[in-house]
Amino acid sequence: MLKKRRIFWQTLPFQILLVLALLVLVTVEGTRLLRRRALDTLTESLQSDARLAARLSEEKLAAGDRRGLDLICKAYGRAKSERLTLVAADGSVLGDSDADPAGMDNHGDRPEVKEALAGREGVSRRFSMTLDRRMLYVAEPIRLESGIVAAARVSQSLTELDRAVQAVHFRVGILPLLAGLLIALLFAAYNGRIRKSVGLVNDAVSRLGRGDFSHRLYFVPAPVMDPVTDRLNEAAESLGSRFSELEDDRNGLQSVLESMSEGVLLLDRDDRIERFNRAAVDLLGLSGGGLKGRSAYDILRNGALLRLIERTRAEAERPVSAAAQKQSADREVIFTEGGRRLQAHGTLFGADASGAAGVLLVFSDITRLSRLEAVRRDFVANVSHELKTPITAIQGSVETLRGHAAGDPAESGRFLEVIHKHAERLNSVVDDLLKLSRLEREEEAGRIALEEGPIAPVLDEAVALLQSKATESGVGLRVECECPHPVAMNAGLLVQAVSNLIDNAVKYSDRGGTVQVRCRTEESAVKIEIEDEGCGIPAVHLPRLFERFYRVDPSRSRSLGGTGLGLSIVKHIAQAHGGSVEVKSEEGKGSVFAIRIPFRKSSG
Ligand code: ADP
Repeated sequence: MLKKRRIFWQTLPFQILLVLALLVLVTVEGTRLLRRRALDTLTESLQSDARLAARLSEEKLAAGDRRGLDLICKAYGRAKSERLTLVAADGSVLGDSDADPAGMDNHGDRPEVKEALAGREGVSRRFSMTLDRRMLYVAEPIRLESGIVAAARVSQSLTELDRAVQAVHFRVGILPLLAGLLIALLFAAYNGRIRKSVGLVNDAVSRLGRGDFSHRLYFVPAPVMDPVTDRLNEAAESLGSRFSELEDDRNGLQSVLESMSEGVLLLDRDDRIERFNRAAVDLLGLSGGGLKGRSAYDILRNGALLRLIERTRAEAERPVSAAAQKQSADREVIFTEGGRRLQAHGTLFGADASGAAGVLLVFSDITRLSRLEAVRRDFVANVSHELKTPITAIQGSVETLRGHAAGDPAESGRFLEVIHKHAERLNSVVDDLLKLSRLEREEEAGRIALEEGPIAPVLDEAVALLQSKATESGVGLRVECECPHPVAMNAGLLVQAVSNLIDNAVKYSDRGGTVQVRCRTEESAVKIEIEDEGCGIPAVHLPRLFERFYRVDPSRSRSLGGTGLGLSIVKHIAQAHGGSVEVKSEEGKGSVFAIRIPFRKSSG
């Protein structure tokens, strides 16, 4: 564009000069021709006048009437604006329309007179010193029978003709010049408009290039550019709407990606990161800034993950059927990153004609799942172990009874006692397991009904359940309830939880000890505390105390008839009330277990 403008401005003066030169040429040549034509006409007219004057003078010449000749000249001068001079063959002036012939010098040397006296038509143009102007002279010979006796010369000033030619010169020369100037001005103005319009269009195109699709060209100074601006506006409109559609799609896709709990990494054909979401950044412990465009091999340090990318990519080269056979096992990997168990799945993405494709990696956090799986495995092992011991004992006792103890009533009674004890134990374990699973099911289904009620009767009932056991064990039970507010609870379950805790407190207290059951109101919850002065629990066991089958001293627990599920049931009941359970204990000094039940509306 710039170059074109320069060329235009560079050539414009030459173009104007050319036009001007042509105008000057036409003007000069035109006026020259015009002048010649006018001169020819004037010459012809003077010639015919001179011939007429010659004819008129013949008679007076023949008579030698010099005065008559001068009178003819004077009359001629009055009738016409021309000057008539009659010159004798010797050059002396016989008559003149403007002056006295006697005072005039010899005219024999005048070129036109010379020609005429020689028998030819004489024509001459020259400056007249006498009249101080340019003159045209035409002379004709006057013939008598004796031959050429004189010449009739007619002259006229060329001033008029020159003036007329100058006027034409002016019109022919100046007017086109003015017209040319006017055209040049108009042309410059129009050119300015075009230039301004091109500038506006140029600016609009630059904006389009920069992604500004909102700009429209409503007016440009040069109407000739209107079709261009219309097309440009249409292009901006359609590009704008396409771009915003793409933008919406992109944002939509990114929102979907961001809302996913799975991490997503999209690698391009060169294993550079093309897209990712926050979950991927969090799960893989990456720093979010400047990830895009970086090589996966620079960012992902995990060998298993890098091998997964390679395996997934290798699928592209394998025949389809073989690839289908290998499938998912090859495309999945489980690894540990930042203390979390992650599962990654790789898929080929968007293969193009050359077969090159990106790799889509999806990461899931399976830490909780793995933990649950481990818990389930432990639980099955624990239950099996828990059941195996009494079953083995019962089996052994039965074998003995069937064998050598069959005839011995004392022995039989002892083994029956063993069978009874272990059957009881089996029963309590299965009972507690059933309670736990029912609690879990009802909790999941939201079927645990809570009702507003006072807490004191719950504590009294729990204490009443354990009173005789406490008395047997020589342990004192004290209840202290400062909780007047009604609480949303499931009384039956809460009695069970509190009695489990009192049971433990009694079990692990020494004879003469005291167990205190207290209830206090906190800001937003009711706190039930069961405090004993028993053996206490070493700190190392506290974090896992509420797990199923977790025991500090398994044999002591078993000998006391414990199943290892009591605290786990307490925890579930507290959770079913939206509350919690905690323990504080000091080895050798005793323990305090506390259930917190938040105040809230009753349900169900
Ligand atoms: P168990 O049937 O064995 O009592 P629990 O789940 O009720 O099972 O308790 C788990 C373990 O916590 C017990 O085996 C015991 O070691 C310990 N424990 C519970 N309550 C007390 C307490 N009041 N004093 C000391 N240890 C306790």
